[in-house]
Amino acid sequence: MKLFAVKSILCLLLSLTFSFSVTFADVEKIRWLTDIEEAKQKAEEHQIPILLVFSGSDWCKPCMKLKQEILTSVEFEKYAFKNLVLVELDFPAQKKNRLSDEQTKHNEALAEKYNTKGAFPLMVVVNHSEKKLGEIGYKKDYTVADYINYFSSFSKHSFNPKTQTKVLKLMGSRFEVSAIHNDVGLAWEAINAGIQEITRIEKLISSWDEASQTSEINRNAGIEAVKVDKELYDLIHRALKVSKLTDGAFDISFASMEKVWKFDGSMTELPSEEAIVASVAKVNYQNILLDAEAQTVFLKEKGMRIGFGAIGKGYAANRAKAIMQEMGIDNGLVSAGGDLIGWGEQEDGTEWKIGIADPEEKDKIFSWLSIVNQSVVTSGNYEKFAMIDGKRYAHIIDPRTGMPVIGLKSVTVICPDAELADALATSIFVLGEKAGLDLVNQLKGIEALLVTDENEIKTSENLDLNYYK
Ligand code: ADP
Ligand code: MG
Repeated sequence: MKLFAVKSILCLLLSLTFSFSVTFADVEKIRWLTDIEEAKQKAEEHQIPILLVFSGSDWCKPCMKLKQEILTSVEFEKYAFKNLVLVELDFPAQKKNRLSDEQTKHNEALAEKYNTKGAFPLMVVVNHSEKKLGEIGYKKDYTVADYINYFSSFSKHSFNPKTQTKVLKLMGSRFEVSAIHNDVGLAWEAINAGIQEITRIEKLISSWDEASQTSEINRNAGIEAVKVDKELYDLIHRALKVSKLTDGAFDISFASMEKVWKFDGSMTELPSEEAIVASVAKVNYQNILLDAEAQTVFLKEKGMRIGFGAIGKGYAANRAKAIMQEMGIDNGLVSAGGDLIGWGEQEDGTEWKIGIADPEEKDKIFSWLSIVNQSVVTSGNYEKFAMIDGKRYAHIIDPRTGMPVIGLKSVTVICPDAELADALATSIFVLGEKAGLDLVNQLKGIEALLVTDENEIKTSENLDLNYYK
């Protein structure tokens, strides 16, 4: 009676500790289990594989060796308690070690499935839905590290974590931020950090926000140099490089021309010749003066303005990606109003597939490409434009003439850097088909696809594109 009481208290204590470790299960607390159903649950919850260990604990010498030398070593436990759900499937020979009928049946059923040859010991790796991923026996010359290496190879492929995506409006456009990670919580943390980063950048570069450093630069045009954050200084510095590269087709001082053009559908006739000439007179990237030492920006002439409409979204996409990568997101995608940057792979393990919209029907996709660590940026005249006398004027303005560009319906640029792709897409719009493609063909690692007003598709020399038939 007494003994029974002690036993039941012990049992109670044991089950208390057990349920404690289950309720507050973090992976580290998972130890050896004996029930496959419980293991499957844990495996799914923590997105890790299951290791089934078939052994004969009281008769099979190599089984005992495996347990002593490998499975119970500090090094192995440190790895396995975190990365595997361990299930011991014992087949004892001696009567005194006999398992319950239920447990015996359970173990035999698994042996019938995964250990048909009756190998002892045998370690079988399965995933949460009991798909077999691999198996390994006792290998004399294998060290603990060798086994760990072997088991690690399954963790990446045993699960397909789902893509987590947040869609929202930022910088006046539709943004989509996606992350793929086993740890769904981490995926969301990273998505939110990426969005925060975009919001921060918007504050820095917005020329509408009176409080931004960009507005301060504009207010002080022709008056004095303005000290700015290194980040903004560097962005302007890079924008000027693109201006030089494109001979001024790309020019962030285009912004003074914005006063005479409206691309929200409200314009019904062209501005006067004088207004156009006056606005274009203020445009010249060579009058954006940088002082590296003082970290200042000076717009030389009164009435000059800068704006990042053609580069800001690309920069923001780059930064969101960088922040998310730093947080451990190896697979993700940021779409900043259609300016995309993808890294790693899609949730099914294949390359990111990016559709290219048909400029005629922008919800339709006419071709696609698979990308590996690339960005795909499209500038189109189908989103913001002015329709005057039946002619469509895009919201990109040629700094040489002060007129909105015509001739192309859309320009897509593919390269690893979203900011550069963004800037180049706008540039090619201004340069036009021939000069635009000539430029791209001279640049290594940069490809482009153009749709002309006549719906012809023109691509750079090395573009690998897939069409929908
Ligand atoms: P989207 O905004 O549709 O992605 P773009 O990246 O081509 O398209 O950016 C177009 C914006 O770039 C315009 O709305 C304007 O703010 C700005 N912009 C227009 N013309 C020029 C130019 N020649 N150089 C630099 N920026 C320009
Ligand atoms: Mg652009």
